[in-house]
Amino acid sequence: MADCLFCSIAAGDIPADVVIETDDVIAFNDINPAAPTHVLLIPKRHIGSVAELEAGDSDLLAALFEVATQIGRDLVGGWRLVTNVGPDAGQSVFHLHFHVLGGRALSWPPG
Ligand code: 5GP
Ligand code: ZN
Repeated sequence: MADCLFCSIAAGDIPADVVIETDDVIAFNDINPAAPTHVLLIPKRHIGSVAELEAGDSDLLAALFEVATQIGRDLVGGWRLVTNVGPDAGQSVFHLHFHVLGGRALSWPPG
């Protein structure tokens, strides 16, 4: 999608510090990390948020969770997988992404 930051990263038009890449999914370090490990996990195909997932996206969702687990299993002391939906929930980039956070104690509930 034109003018989408994460589509541009997925296409390689904007550089990112890539952690894992598969045919359908790319994971890269957040530019403004909120924890020692803060990886963003996106589908290469543009989807606005989890609210826009459709029944046919189940394989893609499984692929996203597979990569999240690959990242998380190396994190000592627990980790968090979170996605923000809508501006009021903190979503600032409107291309589906999961945050993988770890490397420090994580409080709950979030703000
Ligand atoms: P959201 O607020 O939408 O849940 O998360 C968007 C995330 O994207 C934020 O944590 C922000 O730091 C990150 N981000 C914004 N612009 C860039 C960028 O150009 N490169 C990378 N790697 N992360 C970005
Ligand atoms: Zn996009």
